[in-house]
Amino acid sequence: MRIEEVEVISFDVDGTLVDGRFMDEFWNKHIPFYYSKKHGLSINESIEIIKRSYDEVGDRDMRWYIPDYWFKRFNLDINLPDALKEFKDGLRIYPDAIEVLEELKGRTKLIAVTNAVREIMEFELRQIKKFFWKTFSCPSDFGDIRREPGIYLKICNEAGAKPEKVLHIGDHPYFDFEVPRKAGIRALLIDRDGKNGHIRKLTELKEILRI
Ligand SMILES: [Mg+2]
Repeated sequence: MRIEEVEVISFDVDGTLVDGRFMDEFWNKHIPFYYSKKHGLSINESIEIIKRSYDEVGDRDMRWYIPDYWFKRFNLDINLPDALKEFKDGLRIYPDAIEVLEELKGRTKLIAVTNAVREIMEFELRQIKKFFWKTFSCPSDFGDIRREPGIYLKICNEAGAKPEKVLHIGDHPYFDFEVPRKAGIRALLIDRDGKNGHIRKLTELKEILRI
């Protein structure tokens, strides 16, 4: 593949550009912490209740990604912007992401795509927003998560590119590989632990795109 053959490069956000631990902590540490305070339970009891609820909904259901749904369901008085600000120090952009974005800037259209709501995405991408032509929060912009090829096709359409001219990179085997492939998009799976992805680091894109 050469960079000249690609009109749009699309990046997933969590686990791809932004260290996945940030949102993991939000869902699996902070929410149980608020829950334990509100309901007078231990942290461990709260973690158990919350994990069970997450599993019951599952990550192929849009509600799984909507903080307000959970705040209501768990009866928590949380305001999302305040909650994000509270642990902003945990936010880290992968250094290889910054390196490759610098390299690709101006050479092709760059977009970011996420199943997170726009408020979370904007917060996470503040530092690197300048690199992107456009960013897409699937629940906020399309009212669904990218579980069907249709959303990827809408994104191609907005970017004015045919699916075969789009390259998507992400860390989720289903949302970032299977679904975009069904839409006719080229896709690469990143696995930073090196177990079963196509790449371990985003800087490998330089070689793949021969730049
Ligand atoms: Mg991801």
